[in-house]
Amino acid sequence: AEEMMIRSEKMSVAGQLAAGVAHEIRNPLTSIKGFLQLLQAGIDRKEEYYKIMVDEIEKIETITSELLFISKPMTDDKKMERISELLGDVIVLLRSQAKLKNVDIYLDLDKEQSVFCDRSQIKQVFINLIKNAVEAMKDGGSVFVNGRTKKGSVEIDIVDEGPGIPENILHKLKEPFFTTKKDGTGLGLMISNQIVEKHQGRLEIYRNPEKGSTFRVILPTKQEY
Ligand code: ADP
Ligand code: MG
Repeated sequence: AEEMMIRSEKMSVAGQLAAGVAHEIRNPLTSIKGFLQLLQAGIDRKEEYYKIMVDEIEKIETITSELLFISKPMTDDKKMERISELLGDVIVLLRSQAKLKNVDIYLDLDKEQSVFCDRSQIKQVFINLIKNAVEAMKDGGSVFVNGRTKKGSVEIDIVDEGPGIPENILHKLKEPFFTTKKDGTGLGLMISNQIVEKHQGRLEIYRNPEKGSTFRVILPTKQEY
């Protein structure tokens, strides 16, 4: 019975994903088709229509590349990686984008903290979480990345000062395609959760008492095989 349950759960995630992909790709395709028909009819305002079509195509590109990332098999490329180094790379990628939004990113990590992991996948997790934190703060603010060493594991908190997460959507955040953003894909947290679970870790989400949210990544220092 347990096996059945696990299987039907998997089916429903796959089903959800397929329906979501179809929907997310059909909308921009419909709009591209419409604009192409207008152009075919020899309408003015070509520049404007080209721009919209490029935007729509970019939406499809983002969705497909995120999906390819999911379907990529877990490489067996796990090594002991210093969390501080890995996050250093991530911050280099995100700092200029954060600056544009008036967001400062602060790191407080134990320099020696290491985890047995696939570097590029765990980097992807932190990119997704820190991007969300930056995007949550419309008027700027700070993102704090705090690491702690526990017995047998490390915990890294991504803390933001955004509006926080309404209680009634908290349980939906890891579902594929759940997004509250105009141009979001709703795939970031689902992918992050999957990667962390593949590392036998956990992704926990909290509403901060004052303001903002905390996304906690818990990773075992070593893994059992
Ligand atoms: P996307 O960023 O494309 O919307 P995600 O899976 O990364 O997709 O996030 C899903 C949703 O979770 C977001 O649309 C937003 O509603 C919520 N969310 C994620 N991170 C935060 C955050 N730091 N603060 C508030 N809400 C968040
Ligand atoms: Mg996101």
